[in-house]
Amino acid sequence: MEAGPVDSGPTDGDWAAAEALLRGLSSDARVLLICHVNPDGDALGSMLGFGLGLRRLGVRRLQATFPGPPEVPEPFRGLPGLDLLVPAAEAYPAPDLVICFDAASESRLGDLVDRLERAGAALVLDHHASNTRFGGVNLVDPRAAATSVVAEQLLTRLGVPLDAGIAECLYVALTTDTGSFRFEATTPAVHEMAARLLATGIRPGDISRRVFDTRPFGAVRLFGEALGRARLEPAAAGGRGLVWTWAGLDDLARHGQRPYVLEALIDSVRCTAEADVSCVVKQTAPDEWAVSLRSKGAVDVSRVAVALGGGGHRFAAGFTGHGTVDEIVDRIRAHLDGAVIGSVTG
Ligand code: AMP
Ligand code: MN
Ligand code: MN
Repeated sequence: MEAGPVDSGPTDGDWAAAEALLRGLSSDARVLLICHVNPDGDALGSMLGFGLGLRRLGVRRLQATFPGPPEVPEPFRGLPGLDLLVPAAEAYPAPDLVICFDAASESRLGDLVDRLERAGAALVLDHHASNTRFGGVNLVDPRAAATSVVAEQLLTRLGVPLDAGIAECLYVALTTDTGSFRFEATTPAVHEMAARLLATGIRPGDISRRVFDTRPFGAVRLFGEALGRARLEPAAAGGRGLVWTWAGLDDLARHGQRPYVLEALIDSVRCTAEADVSCVVKQTAPDEWAVSLRSKGAVDVSRVAVALGGGGHRFAAGFTGHGTVDEIVDRIRAHLDGAVIGSVTG
């Protein structure tokens, strides 16, 4: 059963419990870090940044992993701490401590939930309001712009100083989830954290070019095709408008591209002035689609995503869909009217 939304951040007791877990580790304890499936910049960045911090604390038996194929998307292949990564199949079968990053529920850990069940203790670091608090200790702060905000706070409490490696990971995480400081979550505290990270000497121009502004030419052409078939439905979402497109496995194959290149497609779709809601439906298997939803503020797309078996934030959410693209978009349309903010849901 899902727990209700968590409105406020971790309590003093939660922080103390997390600190105690980490300070109480024996010198040969096996620590396994896990982030969510299809990891994004926040998942990988908060996990690897925290992992590098644990290494500085003297944790020697330390692994980081994520469910699915052990393939790091090209934009993140320059991240410090990648040497911590192991394929899911090689992760400690029964770790002393598991720490989960940016995952709102156990379902986001795929096959790795068994590590959670067999772990001596489980700590959850996250910022999704829908987090089900599936750890023994949960540091869940829905007001945090990224999981890396929570990770930095915990490192500070543990007395781990920021170095350039940790900072680069946390910076990638922070810029990913704030849309490079463009989204509403960009508070003064976010810029203060960015200042602390930049003070370590990391190079924001190089990092942003690598993470956000580089893609293969095949992906540029693929985006052209996918954008060319985008549909605008001004009447959807109670007249706020929906814009959507899709990309299939055959599109990826034709352009010789890996699935992760499609993660950025939503950013080219959501700029549509005539629609509050944007959607990209991305095929991941013959009958499986990863659906991305975004809103400019009139619609709580997490309501739609949760109703269809997924999750996320008010203005950025997603779910896994089955059937045809038209069937999936039909299901989305059916939930959009009830997700307009201020509307009553049943
Ligand atoms: P994405 O569109 O993949 O960038 O995801 C946007 C947000 O939606 C993420 O931050 C996740 O919190 C959430 N999300 C995406 N896909 C799923 C899913 N299948 N299940 C639960 N949450 C999801
Ligand atoms: Mn994420
Ligand atoms: Mn996140």
